[in-house]
Amino acid sequence: APTVLWLRHDLRLADNPALLAAVDAGAPVVVLYVLDDVTPGVRPLGGASRWWLHHSLTELGDRLARRGGRLVLRRGSGTHVVHEVVAQTGASTVVWNRRYSQGGRAADAGLKESLRAHGVHAESFHANLLFEPWTIQTGAGKPYQVFTPFWRACVNGPPPRDPLPAPKHVPAPADPVASDRLDDWELLPTRPDWAGGLRENWTPGERDARRRLEEFATDTLAAYGLRDEPAREVTSRLSPSLAFGEISPFQIWHRMHEALSTAAHQQRGKFLSEVGWREFHHHVAFHAEDLATVNVRRRFDDFGWETPGDEELDRWRYGRTGIPLVDAGMRELWHTGYMHNRVRMVAASFLVKNLLVDWRVGEQWFWDTLVDADEANNPGNWQWVAGSGADAAPYFRIFNPRAQADRFDRDGEYVRRWVPEVGTGDYPEPMVDLAQSRRDALEAYEQIRR
Ligand code: FAD
Repeated sequence: APTVLWLRHDLRLADNPALLAAVDAGAPVVVLYVLDDVTPGVRPLGGASRWWLHHSLTELGDRLARRGGRLVLRRGSGTHVVHEVVAQTGASTVVWNRRYSQGGRAADAGLKESLRAHGVHAESFHANLLFEPWTIQTGAGKPYQVFTPFWRACVNGPPPRDPLPAPKHVPAPADPVASDRLDDWELLPTRPDWAGGLRENWTPGERDARRRLEEFATDTLAAYGLRDEPAREVTSRLSPSLAFGEISPFQIWHRMHEALSTAAHQQRGKFLSEVGWREFHHHVAFHAEDLATVNVRRRFDDFGWETPGDEELDRWRYGRTGIPLVDAGMRELWHTGYMHNRVRMVAASFLVKNLLVDWRVGEQWFWDTLVDADEANNPGNWQWVAGSGADAAPYFRIFNPRAQADRFDRDGEYVRRWVPEVGTGDYPEPMVDLAQSRRDALEAYEQIRR
């Protein structure tokens, strides 16, 4: 009887423990991906992520086919579809790599139970985080709330395992299993086609993810000390591939412990600690009520957010606030599906603190427009900026976008790249006075402190 492998955030053949286990079982493997927009607590993908998914699945399907396998695509409730496929194929085993979101875990726990009740063997694997959230605890046996001791506990524990090889052959069942056509999912934009900038900037899929890691380790990491300067491209750009699991953190960790130049070696710890922030936000999300909707610091529930009109919000969304660094970032995001980390912080802070807009509004926009939109990293970072999150920037630390530009984009290269009309009559006046809105924000914050 075949084995069903249910793929989710792990669209890769290498270092995929569930795939390897399925192949090792010796029976044909049904490799299944389910587009799930219906399971409660499993967040439907945003627009930019759908674009990425389309291309990533195309590449994965090709890679599988070259190894004798076949990718089966279905749409609906993941749990429901898995049961359906088990019934249709007579599969005796279902395997998957664990996901860590609240809704995802609840669905998987339910699935495991119901499969076992039907006499089907179900097994899950550790694949997508270096350190599973429940394995890292404070001395008092509690989850961590602060990054530095969290990461110290991680790196001082047993080292992450070595990455696993990709299987050479993935045997498909003799009778083909019914699959949707990817094009019928309509994941790509048509009218208007806003994906031109995404196509110019990205090649989704496992192969390019591995290429980016290799290029970063050999050529770029040495300059990672300049990572806060948005005009330089010295970060890894691995975030969308990590979000879709085209590459695993184990592969990254392992590559960082292979040969590196001396200068790169000096930057390695800093880079790995950024990967550590990804682990931290997943750790926090695992223990939080619902990171995307609920303030980690409940005091913020009483914050007096403004309710902006669409016109005002659109100025932020499309980069017409009149604040050059914010506009540059928002245009980079809209055009490429990505924004430099420093500028994400500045653009988010401007929305939450200068415009007093609820962080959830910005989080949703990023969710829809980022190719690396991640269920833990996106709300975790928005809550960090807002001051409502774990180990967050204190609310009163309000980024001044002009000072940030002077410091990190000194010669204005990044701003001019995205806002060529800056300094001309075509560029709008600032939509708010930075100094006054800062004072207003601090006053609003005083209200919830009392
Ligand atoms: P590198 O500097 O090369 O870092 C390597 C990896 O470390 C990244 O790919 C990422 O997985 C992880 N990482 C780096 N910085 C962070 C961070 N601050 N928090 C968590 N993980 C980090 N990152 C996402 O992956 N998805 C999101 O949806 C997301 N939303 C964000 C929203 C806001 C408001 C802010 C301020 C940051 C957000 N980030 C998010 C974090 C960060 O901006 C990106 O991970 C980073 O810019 C990706 O580029 P890179 O891969 O070149 O990073």
